[in-house]
Amino acid sequence: MTTTAVTHIATLVTNDPSLGDGTPLGLIQDAAVVIDGDRVVWTGETSKAPATDNAVDAGGRAMVPGFVDSHSHLVFSGDRTQEFHARMSGRPYSAGGIRTTVAATRAASDEELSANVARYLAEALHQGTTTLETKSGYGLTVRDEARALRIAAAHTDEVTYLGAHIVAPEYADDPAGYVDLVTGPMLDACAPYARWIDVFCERGAFDGDQARAVLTAGLARGLRARVHANQLGPGPGVQLAVELGAASADHCTHLTDDDLDALGQGDTVATLLPGAEFSTRAAWPDARRLLDAGATVALSTDCNPGSSFTSSMAFCVALAVRDMGMTPDEALWSATAGGAAALRRTDVGRVTPGARADLVLLDAPSHVHLAYRPGVPLTHAVWRGGERVR
Ligand SMILES: [Zn+2]
Repeated sequence: MTTTAVTHIATLVTNDPSLGDGTPLGLIQDAAVVIDGDRVVWTGETSKAPATDNAVDAGGRAMVPGFVDSHSHLVFSGDRTQEFHARMSGRPYSAGGIRTTVAATRAASDEELSANVARYLAEALHQGTTTLETKSGYGLTVRDEARALRIAAAHTDEVTYLGAHIVAPEYADDPAGYVDLVTGPMLDACAPYARWIDVFCERGAFDGDQARAVLTAGLARGLRARVHANQLGPGPGVQLAVELGAASADHCTHLTDDDLDALGQGDTVATLLPGAEFSTRAAWPDARRLLDAGATVALSTDCNPGSSFTSSMAFCVALAVRDMGMTPDEALWSATAGGAAALRRTDVGRVTPGARADLVLLDAPSHVHLAYRPGVPLTHAVWRGGERVR
């Protein structure tokens, strides 16, 4: 195996408090990272770096772990520009929202859907996202949900079955029948391609009892749980997620004190998706309140064509710092180690010996610039699994 050292990193974020300065980010100044194959094998000060086959001079730039985007919806077709334009122009928009994307996705060929996933994965990778979860949820038939997951699984290991996104239009008058489908034949067809099961637990989608039925059916099939919870209003989603040991409760915009206590005491990660609030002009989730309650917080894009069409983790970091009460250090941690926790991964989201060599070199001397210079493309170089991809 060939070893490569990246040297003269102005500030290295390791996300290991036992390294560097002792903070949660484990910062090391004038640092070096040694890669062997697809793994990090050494981190420390440049002056102490071991000899390697190759060297790359970081030139005083900062390095952070590759972003871990633990929540996206990339298997879709079509476009909802008009819906966004109407919403941002103050006009009511009554066309079908998610249903519009469901119709377009069902009509698309496998090749179109696969090309779309590849396109947005490449877009995210170009911006430093080296681990990305994605979901079904725009098929809502046995065939279309299984197809979406098969396509997603060809592009990423983190695949989530979200047949319970909304009640399929064909079952508008029979939501119980749709839950039976999602927990029966659709689950049978989808489970082989998925690692996770998810449900949109929200007024207008699935209530607490329906969400429980969906999640317990998935758990019984060996899938692990994550939940769309408390996005549009208070509800049972967060409590259900914690009770069932879900890895993550996603959105967490409307939380009661009991919800906060549950997230603070359990090990369900609170995943915040500020792109959704940005793109719908909704109130921000209160990250400060969650952190002060002791919750583990992740940041993700929720990339989807309706409510959050961004693949930029840096943008989410900037929003979290500006509007959600996070410090720049907390936001960076949540976009890397937090996302890894939300996916129950220990091999990504950190730059420590043994971790996968997923590294982002920034055109800036510090990770703080991700929030300090919002909207500016700061990605200088990206390694994924030890391979330089940008
Ligand atoms: Zn979502």
